[in-house]
Amino acid sequence: MNLPPIPPSPAVFLDFDGTLVDFADAPDAVTVDPDLVDLLTRLRSRTHGALAVVTGRRLEEIDRFLSPLVLPAAGLHGIERRARANASILELPQSSQIHRLRDRLETSSLLGGGINLEDKGNGLAIHYRLAPQAEAEVKAAMRAAISDLDELHLVEGKMVVEAKRADVNKGLAIAAFMDVPPFADRIPVFLGDDVTDEDGFRVVAKLGGVAVKVGDGPSVAPYRLDDRRQVLEWLDLMTRTETSRIP
Ligand SMILES: [Mg+2]
Repeated sequence: MNLPPIPPSPAVFLDFDGTLVDFADAPDAVTVDPDLVDLLTRLRSRTHGALAVVTGRRLEEIDRFLSPLVLPAAGLHGIERRARANASILELPQSSQIHRLRDRLETSSLLGGGINLEDKGNGLAIHYRLAPQAEAEVKAAMRAAISDLDELHLVEGKMVVEAKRADVNKGLAIAAFMDVPPFADRIPVFLGDDVTDEDGFRVVAKLGGVAVKVGDGPSVAPYRLDDRRQVLEWLDLMTRTETSRIP
């Protein structure tokens, strides 16, 4: 197996669902490996604090899953941001177009029968994991629903279509971390499994870092790990590999 290289001074960015935990039928139903918090705590120590979660979820959910560990993190693909573990969460203002879209979806016939709306505040996700046959219908309905809302765009994930602000993505979130300590002057490493992680891979590659796609599917990332189990093993290897302080 050809493992991704471990840079001498990594800044590590991790997607959550599908990367650190397996998918479940509902976002709340994921189970967190009991060893995960311990592993991330060791990784934070090894990276001298340069460890952040970059997720589409709200950070309060991530904090609940990883309790008692609190990490620097970007939530809702970058709308929420906590630059340091002990800082408060900053949130970009809401787009009024999200309200209009929510009204449209809630009064449409799209929802129900296994098709669920998740309101993320600054994003609206339609999950069809329980109704996979409706994929084409869901995508067409979402495209029509945002056609006159120019601040929004659609991001398709695994059994989910999400309408989000067009000026926010995981790549911009990672770039913002890389501008400030303890991330600055380190080599970025980003692991993710989904379409929304591709923006992150591009930014990390441009910064000379290590972009790692988890699982199958096309990706711009030059490195790959098969699944969550391999992710945890590789991160564990990183905690046992000597990394140097910034000179
Ligand atoms: Mg993911």
